[in-house]
Order: sequence, then C-alpha cells, then structure tokens
Amino acid sequence: MTPYRYIVIVGCGRLGSMLANQLSRQGCSIVVVDRDEAAFRNLSTEFSGFQVTGDAAELAVLRQAKIDQADCLLAATRHDNVNLMVAQVARTVFGVPKVIARVFDPTREEVYRQFEIETICPTQLSANAFLAALQDQSEGTT
Ligand code: AMP
Repeated sequence: MTPYRYIVIVGCGRLGSMLANQLSRQGCSIVVVDRDEAAFRNLSTEFSGFQVTGDAAELAVLRQAKIDQADCLLAATRHDNVNLMVAQVARTVFGVPKVIARVFDPTREEVYRQFEIETICPTQLSANAFLAALQDQSEGTT
C-alpha cells in the first residue's frame, strides 16, 4: 500500500495504465495524462480517477492535472526526453515531493539524480532478470 494519496501518471500506455489501475484499486486519487485519447482505453472499468488529454510537456496540461496538489508524479511514457522534462518540471516548478521517471538509457540516470528524480530503468531490470534466469538454469544443471 502506497502512502501517496494524489498521484499524477504521465503516459497511459501499457505501463502507465497498469500503474493507474492498480493504484486506483488501492484507493489513491489518480490523474492520468496522455496526448492520445485512445490510450485511455487501457484503463480498467473500475478505474475511478481522472483523465487529461494533452502533451504533458506543456505547463497548462500539467496544471489541468492539478499537479500543484500532487504528492507524487510518475513519468511513464516510452520517451526518455519527455519523462525527464516532465519529471524536472514537477520537481522544480511545482515542488512535487516524490517523482519517479522511466528511463531506458542507463547512462542518463546521473542527470536525473541531479534533479532529485528517482528512476526505474527497464533496460537494467531486464538485464538483471535475464542474468538471474541464466543463473537459475546453471544451478539446475549442476
Ligand atoms: P507505452 O510505451 O505503451 O507504455 O505508451 C506510452 C504512452 O505515453 C502512449 O500512450 C503515448 O501516447 C504517451 N505519451 C508519449 N509522449 C507523451 C507526451 N508528451 N504527453 C503525454 N503523453 C505522452
């Protein structure tokens, strides 16, 4: 159970919608932002949050999502540049206390750290999972 009550999620693709559905089920207030209205079809019928259609790189769109009241922002588009920009604005302009961004390029994680943005790197997580699977297999054959 997360302690965060009002969470803005940017990107309603596979990852963003999964996060939105699960956090909504936990009772959090969720606003999902996506520039493509069709992406909201990924939300489950039980999702009880709000949807904002627009480019999250625009301040007006983030304001519409009431980001100034959010205690957490998750940047979950598939674009590192968009995620960095949105996460940076959330931290520096709106002072959102907890900001986590999806970042595919592990070499860019240092940039995010400088802005006090936490990162989740799918590339690193996948590499770890592959290596762990190889480990298990070699253990199974010995
Ligand atoms: P996926 O890679 O399937 O998890 O989807 C990423 C989602 O992020 C898609 O639905 C895109 O429409 C959305 N997206 C990408 N860039 C932006 C942006 N600048 N503002 C809002 N949504 C975006």
